[in-house]
Amino acid sequence: MVSNIQLILLLAMGTCLIAGVAMLAEWRSFREPAAGWWAIGFMLSVVGLVVFQVRYGYSLDVLSIGVSNSLILGSYSVICAGLAVFCGRTVNLPAVFLPSFAWIIFWSLSPSSSNFDTRVIVVSVITAMISALSAWYCFACKSHWWLKVLGWVMVMRMIVSAARAFWSGGLFGPLLGSERAVGFEMIFIEGLWTSVLVSYLMFTNLRQKRESSLIKLAETDFLTGADNRRSFQIKAEPVLAQTHGGRTASLVTLDLDNFKQINDSRGHAFGDEVLQRFASIVRRHIGPQNIFARTGGEEFAILLPDQDAARSTQIAEKIRSSFEREMDGFDLGTIAATVSVGIITVSRIHALDALMLLVDEALYQAKTNGRNRVERAIEPAETPVPEGETDRPRLQLST
Ligand code: GH3
Ligand code: MG
Ligand code: MG
Repeated sequence: MVSNIQLILLLAMGTCLIAGVAMLAEWRSFREPAAGWWAIGFMLSVVGLVVFQVRYGYSLDVLSIGVSNSLILGSYSVICAGLAVFCGRTVNLPAVFLPSFAWIIFWSLSPSSSNFDTRVIVVSVITAMISALSAWYCFACKSHWWLKVLGWVMVMRMIVSAARAFWSGGLFGPLLGSERAVGFEMIFIEGLWTSVLVSYLMFTNLRQKRESSLIKLAETDFLTGADNRRSFQIKAEPVLAQTHGGRTASLVTLDLDNFKQINDSRGHAFGDEVLQRFASIVRRHIGPQNIFARTGGEEFAILLPDQDAARSTQIAEKIRSSFEREMDGFDLGTIAATVSVGIITVSRIHALDALMLLVDEALYQAKTNGRNRVERAIEPAETPVPEGETDRPRLQLST
């Protein structure tokens, strides 16, 4: 006959085993290091629970109490380390073993470890501390809100563990034997529920992270890290739809001068480096609210929301002169490695395609006027927005 507690333990073992194996498969498929840590964490729980079961056949306290608690605390700690890794932090390995080590020291050296209530207090306090740290990693991480949900589950486990420590310490009155038995069952029921919830949230977070990086990849130019043309279009349209009622925006296109000659004289790899340097110069001069994209081989575009003519010209001039200065440091002989720029500033709604044509004309002017200069286009009285332009369905972009 299997007791209540053994049944709960079997369920918990099965849940952790399934979560551990699924997490291992996840790690094998996608090589996300956090999944590896979490797989080890769940497997440690399984071994800890198996060893714990020894108490129902033999009286080997060293296994069923000493080793099993250190394995279960180790599993919480490894899961916490996985959260740190998920958020891009480095893990201090000795710190991961610290909770298990602290338990073993208490178990082997403290005379009060023979007392059941004291053992529950020690395990609960350590669990509450690991849960608090896990929650902190979740809340401090710049990630999707699903990680915050996992953080709240960790907060819940912290509160339950702390309450259990107070309860076992007799804060709510002396404990009866029957209350102790129920409390013991509750520990495992709570553990079982938390494992199900935590593993579900871990998979959701892993999927979310993968999706975000795929979207990022789909909207980014590989060489320069700037947005690609399609992403620029998707991000620019809603900004241009806001340019009315006193709000302005400036559209800038930039084309590197004599780039073919640079490639021909110094090689394609050097040309690539020039493109990367140019992109970092632009990033230095614009803010995160501005949209910057590589729209073609050596052609770039910037959309500056809420920037008027004077300010956008100033930014364009800074980019132009910084690039000229930086390229002066390379021995390119007679080749002028500079950039020509076209700008248009608008205060009414226009279609992006129509503005692109106008700003490209300004850029062409800059080329014909001798390159390495900034030229402006004039905002037309009206360019009708093609029907459905502002409300066409859009690809979901990362934030
Ligand atoms: P202009 O001053 O009139 O703009 O002349 P240009 O030489 O810059 O323009 P052109 O259109 O004649 O040449 C652009 C060159 O850019 C040709 C192409 O090989 C090169 N290019 C396009 N994409 C890349 C790239 O990803 N890397 C490198 N290294 N070169 C590229
Ligand atoms: Mg060009
Ligand atoms: Mg060019």
